[in-house]
Amino acid sequence: MGLEATTGRLADAVAWARKYSLFTYPFATACCAMEYMSLMGPRYDVARYGAEFPRFSPRQADMLLVVGTITERQAPVLKRIYDQICEPKWVVSFGVCASSGGFYQNYTTLPGIDHVIPVDVYIPGCPPRPEQVLDALVMLQDKIQRHDGYSQRMIELEKREAQMKKKKKHGSSTETSA
Ligand code: SF4
Repeated sequence: MGLEATTGRLADAVAWARKYSLFTYPFATACCAMEYMSLMGPRYDVARYGAEFPRFSPRQADMLLVVGTITERQAPVLKRIYDQICEPKWVVSFGVCASSGGFYQNYTTLPGIDHVIPVDVYIPGCPPRPEQVLDALVMLQDKIQRHDGYSQRMIELEKREAQMKKKKKHGSSTETSA
């Protein structure tokens, strides 16, 4: 019980550090990118939330910000970039085009990035206001602190499964030796 409480507090401290040091990979394809630029500027100053460093390598990022329209041909590239980001990672869908395909009702546009990658927070709007993006960032930070991001949940699930397998294996080996 004591050890569990200590590791729980350590996990909370790590989550606290992570939520205030997000490194963004901006996958920006269309007009929403202008709003992203204003978010980075001095008026909205995303640095106040600890998320001001754009990184154009998935190896150095932990938040994928998908900004703008994604076509069917771009979808495999987006998926590959998502796969290349180390765990734990988070995804924010910026604007209606990324979230649902927006007003594009045609065969070239992906009707939402959640067809290829999991999304933690969706931002509505065409384009969304920078204030909405800041709101989304705060929502994401809450999720990170609660260990409730998609990839955080997957890591936890894998850990539990590995523990169960270990217990099962241990149990069967003691049965055999008895
Ligand atoms: S949501 Fe609107 S502003 Fe953003 S990429 Fe689509 S059309 Fe452009």
